[in-house]
Amino acid sequence: MRLANLLVDGRKTVSVVSADGRTYWPVTSLVPDFAGDMVDLIREYDAIKSRLSTKVAGMTLRESMILAPIDQPRRNIFCVGKNYSEHAAEFQKSGFDHSAKDGEFAPEAPVVFTKPASTVIGPGAEIPRHANVTSQLDYEAELGVVIGKGGRGITKSDAMNHVFGYTVINDVTARDLQKLHRQWFIGKALDGFCPMGPYVVTADEVDGQNLDIRCWVNGELRQNSNTRQLIFDIPTLIATLSAGIELQPGDVIATGTPAGVGIGFSPPKFLQAGDEVRIEIQNVGVLVNKIGG
Ligand code: MG
Repeated sequence: MRLANLLVDGRKTVSVVSADGRTYWPVTSLVPDFAGDMVDLIREYDAIKSRLSTKVAGMTLRESMILAPIDQPRRNIFCVGKNYSEHAAEFQKSGFDHSAKDGEFAPEAPVVFTKPASTVIGPGAEIPRHANVTSQLDYEAELGVVIGKGGRGITKSDAMNHVFGYTVINDVTARDLQKLHRQWFIGKALDGFCPMGPYVVTADEVDGQNLDIRCWVNGELRQNSNTRQLIFDIPTLIATLSAGIELQPGDVIATGTPAGVGIGFSPPKFLQAGDEVRIEIQNVGVLVNKIGG
């Protein structure tokens, strides 16, 4: 199932969306006693999914209605750095990586950081340029894993049973701030630095461990990989995070970006005002955002 958070008559409306993205059904029209946002829907999904029938007539969806699917995360977005080998290598070579040991091209354990909820923006929203604090704005195409059933101490073998679905994330980064502050938080956490969407696609519809992931800037293909290439796969990430942190329904894990980010080029290709970043993940969705002025 394809789920979206839509702005309908000025109200946020969690909805089921048709496979072609042209039709929507507000969840409240199918399940009148439901009231809540996407995180609430994820919590209640098993109990109400049999009532989310789209056999009745739906309404016409316009792209401009689509908000970030989880626009009010209850906690920070969990993010994983350096999780594709070629990207770990390009980052190390770029001189911007203060987190690697000398000569280390791939981490020994998942590199985890977070982005606050305030970073989340939707498809089509402008990514703030933040010219007063950064001159080195960069993009990172990533598969977002949305947790369904929470838990602590989740084993790798059980981990995929805790995945509700998937979305597309752009882990926007200010490279100069990432480098300057060593801890990645500030460079990853500026307002608007987590474009997300357009949908959450439920886990029964796609194999999250085998999805093509591509990113274009102004139409130029920059990143082109597959989630098979993750150094630490989705079960490993869930097991690692949940070992001592109880995962909750609606938590989002951005799984890392492949090679081809701006600092991977020589000279680096940083984002400028007006640039368009387009990220496509196979059968999950296309996320497009422009850089603001
Ligand atoms: Mg990233």
